[in-house]
Amino acid sequence: MTLQSRFSFPLACLAGTLFSIALFAPVGYAQPVQIDKLLGKTILLFTPHPDDDTFCCAGTLALLAKRGNNIHIVIYTNDDKGSYDPEMTSERLARIRKAEEEEACRLIGIPKENIHWLQFHDGMLEYANPKDLVEEVTKIIRTFRPDVVMSIDPGSEYVRWHKTDHRMAANNTLDAIRAAEWHLYFPNQILHDGLRPWNVPTEAYFYVTPKDANYWVNIDDVVDLKLASAAAHVSQFDPAIRKYRPDWEPADLEKLKGGLRARAVKRDGHIVEAFRVSGQFNQQ
Ligand SMILES: [Zn+2]
Repeated sequence: MTLQSRFSFPLACLAGTLFSIALFAPVGYAQPVQIDKLLGKTILLFTPHPDDDTFCCAGTLALLAKRGNNIHIVIYTNDDKGSYDPEMTSERLARIRKAEEEEACRLIGIPKENIHWLQFHDGMLEYANPKDLVEEVTKIIRTFRPDVVMSIDPGSEYVRWHKTDHRMAANNTLDAIRAAEWHLYFPNQILHDGLRPWNVPTEAYFYVTPKDANYWVNIDDVVDLKLASAAAHVSQFDPAIRKYRPDWEPADLEKLKGGLRARAVKRDGHIVEAFRVSGQFNQQ
């Protein structure tokens, strides 16, 4: 949808009115883009931690990678707090988490060169300078000019409760999507970096409520890849989360995979990943 057709009316005047809701809301939801059917597109996924991308979407990402899409993962934090091991340090954990994420992505077809770390400390994203943070992510969007941005769902009708880092990443990414298309936001990026505004055509939000989900990707064919990718985050599960070890006892690994498979979202007899896909940014 072009900028022209999206903004034929003065949005500021219409915002909040029943007319604007009736006019705009159904368009983005009527026929969600079939994100798993894309070929040769650029996909930019923003994740607060190096594993949310795996848990939400590894199946979908594996399918997209097989179809020749150019997938980039942007990770807000280095995940340097999530261990109960009293011997663990933040510096060591950050190194472990980086290696685990690289392996998790490799397994589903995303090379480590496509992983971009913003390097905020775990749990501290909310205390970053909000203007700097949205500017940084706006620049990333204008640089990659993605066909699809994937991000945590901030909520379709209300601000969802998320844990720290997740709520900041959700709202910040949304704000950056908005800023990226307007040339008067962060014009320094246009003047100094040669970037141009970019109107993200499709957003695919993950960690959605059942009420908000409007698109489900069948991952039956790649569920084993997803489980292997999830298991690459060794340090985030028992027993390594309590006493770090870099590998699995076979019995522990099977127990993990069995538990994950049992908790997988199912729809019409298939294992799926749920999204809220929107082809229209909510300007209200
Ligand atoms: Zn997380």
